[in-house]
Amino acid sequence: MSKVLIIGAGGVGRVVTYKCAQHPEVFSEIMLASRTVSKCEVIAKDAMRDTGHTSIQTAAIDAENVPELVALIRSFQPKLVIHVALPYQDLTIMDACLETGVHYMDTANYEPKDEAKFEYSWQWAYQDRFKEKGILALLGCGFDPGVTSIFTARAAKHHFDEIHYLDIVDCNGGDHGKAFATNFNPEINIREITQNGRYWENGKWVETKPFEIKQSLNYPNIGARNSYVLYHEELESLVKNYPTIKRARFWMTFGDEYLTHLRVIQNIGMAGIAPVIYQGQEIIPLQFLKEVLPDPGDLGENYVGETSIGCRIRGLKDGKERTYYIWNNCKHQTAYDETGTQGVSYTTGVPAMTGAMMILNGQWSGKGVFNVEEFNPDPFLEKLGEHGLPWEEEFDINLEVD
Ligand code: NDP
Repeated sequence: MSKVLIIGAGGVGRVVTYKCAQHPEVFSEIMLASRTVSKCEVIAKDAMRDTGHTSIQTAAIDAENVPELVALIRSFQPKLVIHVALPYQDLTIMDACLETGVHYMDTANYEPKDEAKFEYSWQWAYQDRFKEKGILALLGCGFDPGVTSIFTARAAKHHFDEIHYLDIVDCNGGDHGKAFATNFNPEINIREITQNGRYWENGKWVETKPFEIKQSLNYPNIGARNSYVLYHEELESLVKNYPTIKRARFWMTFGDEYLTHLRVIQNIGMAGIAPVIYQGQEIIPLQFLKEVLPDPGDLGENYVGETSIGCRIRGLKDGKERTYYIWNNCKHQTAYDETGTQGVSYTTGVPAMTGAMMILNGQWSGKGVFNVEEFNPDPFLEKLGEHGLPWEEEFDINLEVD
């Protein structure tokens, strides 16, 4: 029975609140805090109505203000802070957790606002301070990063002596009926996918132009989809934690219509993150664009189809080469029926709650800063299906990724 503080009332925050509320035996008291308290209140009311949880409080917080965070944590006294606001706030929330001695977890690595740069260095630098304080920081416990890293940990623990080739494949085979929309925060999403791609090969990073490497891959229950190599943060920790990996890549599917819109957005300067002066006021084009794009949290109602995310792995077991595919498919409509939001928020929020449960139940424990694959994957994967994301695995098949 623990108190948990959830920060961020977007699509992911909604799912985390719902899923925690379904387990009052672990999350006995919940507080949802975010910039706009009215959004927290709507989620709290819906979640209490739909789950029967009786203790979800709300609060307004600026998660970039450490003294404000410290005051909120001191007054509510949670055992764990689940950070599902934006990656810009990772470090301030970690600072507040350090000051108050409370465990921390998130689903995305820190990004400075003025540069779309994805790496763990800033958060790994907290290692000694978290260790000395005797608390745990769990980084990247969504789906990707998160479940993909835990799938890799399962492969390494049970099915391979050496992993040589890792391809993480992320397909959204859904249709929300809009001309253009992103499935999570548009600003964070567009910053991520318009960067140069990067993959790991033979001990170093190989850089690619955005969308330079394309291949049609088949996804279970969905079929063939154009998939593109892009950089994704879990590659950094996975190649560090599994040094036998010779090549690690991340693939994501995009439709032609999406890519055309994205190209236009970039060509007319709307993906820019440098401030421009508009009518005497400084604005960031990408932040303005976010305001006019559909809210990812509102896509659920008419969303059909499913996501399919998994790991395709090749390596050695008992001296013989083997291939392995482990994945989850999630239907947008099922996610919406349960939590009022779409599958991408759902596939992020369910692992976040499951990771939180691992920490609060003591199944994952430690002092310092950890990526999810450093913990035992078994209890987490045992629970994941029960919590709404069942997974499947296949051996010795054609992985399509040579
Ligand atoms: P949303 O934009 O829907 O929600 C973000 C929330 O954070 C909003 O409620 C916003 O407040 C709040 N917020 C922003 N700035 C602050 C601040 N300074 N102080 C307090 N609250 C703030 O995003 P999503 O729910 O789609 O995504 C949430 C997180 O999940 C992101 O970090 C994203 O990168 C991550 N993610 C991870 C995935 C994974 O698989 N690992 C996949 C998808 C997302 P307001 O309502 O006022 O704008």
